[in-house]
Amino acid sequence: GLRIGVLGLQGDFREHLHAVEALGASGVRIRRPSELAGLDGLIIPGGESTTIDKLSRTFGLREPLRELIQAGLPVYGSCAGMILLADEIADPATDLSGAPQQTFGGLDIMVRRNAFGRQRESFETDLEFKGLEFSATDDGIPPVHAVFIRGPWVERVGDGVEVLAQVEPSKIGHPEQLAGKARIVAVRSGKLLATSFHPEVTGEKRVHELFIRMIRGEA
Ligand code: GLN
Repeated sequence: GLRIGVLGLQGDFREHLHAVEALGASGVRIRRPSELAGLDGLIIPGGESTTIDKLSRTFGLREPLRELIQAGLPVYGSCAGMILLADEIADPATDLSGAPQQTFGGLDIMVRRNAFGRQRESFETDLEFKGLEFSATDDGIPPVHAVFIRGPWVERVGDGVEVLAQVEPSKIGHPEQLAGKARIVAVRSGKLLATSFHPEVTGEKRVHELFIRMIRGEA
């Protein structure tokens, strides 16, 4: 079976471990470099991207992770995990010395953190999500129920980055934050997949299933 690592330094890694195990893969919590050996894929969970960034360096994981991403390991990043996969952050946090937070990078996108506004710490909506054809029924492809918890949106996508889902301005309570524009909340580039939202908290299994199909070369 497949061995899927879940970066387990901070955040909701347990939910991702459960999600991949429910789909028949083995989930491996990753806290140190030696645990990266023999993985078929990796998930970077939601949480706090600045904390995961710092802890990854403390635990010696930053460089090995960057190398694996560059080498083509399939990686799925959810929320903070999307931020950590992004090559660029529009509004990076800075630490006390003024140094901006860093990402692992690999995905040619620019993200904006907490983009949907702090006052609405979370919201939920149904999204059309490309790539889930395997789940089609007679009525079409059921929408993905997406939960956003201080999530980022994607402000720029580079060449070769496919947009899988967007939030329409009418879908959230503060449409002025969307400035009348649909905002990108799911992308794929090669073997890298990222979502602004948290499929692991709703029982939605199809995003993890898509990731497993990507690992297997079936999607
Ligand atoms: N706002 C968080 C960050 O910037 C992400 C929130 C989340 O992962 N739920 O890291």
